[in-house]
Formats: sequence, structure tokens, C-alpha cells
Amino acid sequence: MQIVKYPHPSLRRLSKPLARVDAEVRRYAAEMLELMYEFDGVGLAANQVDLPYRIFVVNFKGDPAAKDQEWVVLNPVITNRSGTAEAEEGCLSFPGIYAPVRRAERVIMTGFDLSGNEIRLELDGLPARAVQHEIDHLDGVVFIDRLSPTNQLAVRESLAALERQFADEQARGLIPPSEQIIARLDELESLRT
Ligand code: ZN
Repeated sequence: MQIVKYPHPSLRRLSKPLARVDAEVRRYAAEMLELMYEFDGVGLAANQVDLPYRIFVVNFKGDPAAKDQEWVVLNPVITNRSGTAEAEEGCLSFPGIYAPVRRAERVIMTGFDLSGNEIRLELDGLPARAVQHEIDHLDGVVFIDRLSPTNQLAVRESLAALERQFADEQARGLIPPSEQIIARLDELESLRT
């Protein structure tokens, strides 16, 4: 398992709900947590590891020791949003790019954990921002889509550099052709839905 970078096609995929939890899903979650901590993230969505399922991991403190801040969330839904707040965001799939994003200030999120228990979190501040960012991923939306026109312009060169790097890695065979990436995601999706 590896973190994919913009403009990898997985990042634009609408993820499908998981119908059941089995050993493989638990392994995905464990590996996602490991990668998130390895790269000092606060969250990681399945799209970012090239999987087409609605699951993300998060640690609101970004601290592996703070287990009470760690969540694995399946099939998350935001049932309530209120207020607006703007703050700088980054993303492990957009290395080196940071920009302010306007989001709801408070949210109520529901979902399921790996034991099938319902999760219901009332969040504000960074935790509210983090889950909105991760659920966006599951919908194929990335944080640069939510920038103001001025900030879009400010990150344009950095995005172009990531696009060149991706094209170069595909040309060298380090990343499969996009059709192959999509065919694999279709297959993984059909196995579980
Ligand atoms: Zn992200």
C-alpha cells in the first residue's frame, strides 16, 4: 500500500459504501493508519491508497500515542453542518501544497467502526475540518477544488509540477497507465458491492 499523489485517477473516484467488514478491510485500515503516522498526517482516505471504498482513518492530534483521538470510519455521512471557518490545509496526496480552505465550522458525522458499531461525533475546529476533508476524498473531491480563485492561482505552478512528475512516472512505468488503474478499481469495487 502506498499513498498516491495528485493527479492520480483514484483521487477523482466516487468511493462505494462497504457492505461488510472482514479481515481484509481490517488490514486495509491498519495499513492506512500506519501510513498516516509514517507521513505525519492527521487523516487518510481510501482513495489516497488506491482503494475504491468509503473508509478513512484519522487522528485529530496526529499523535499515534493518542488512541482516543484515532478513528477508523466506514461509510461516513455528515448529518449536520453549521457556521463557516477558514484555515490552512494540506494533503498527503499534494506534497508541499498548503492553502486556506473555507468549510463548515461544526459538523455532526455518523458512520461505523470496524466492529460494525455506529459512530456519532459532534465536532468543531480541526476535527470538523479533518472529517470534511476526508469525506470529500471519498466523493472524489480534493482540497484544491475548494480554494478561492486567488489561491487557485497561487498553487497553479505547484500543481503543474506534480502533474509533470506523475506523467513522468507513468512514462517510466513506475505508475501503471490510467486505464489500468481504473480497471483495477472497477474490479476491487465489484468484489465488495
Ligand atoms: Zn487529503
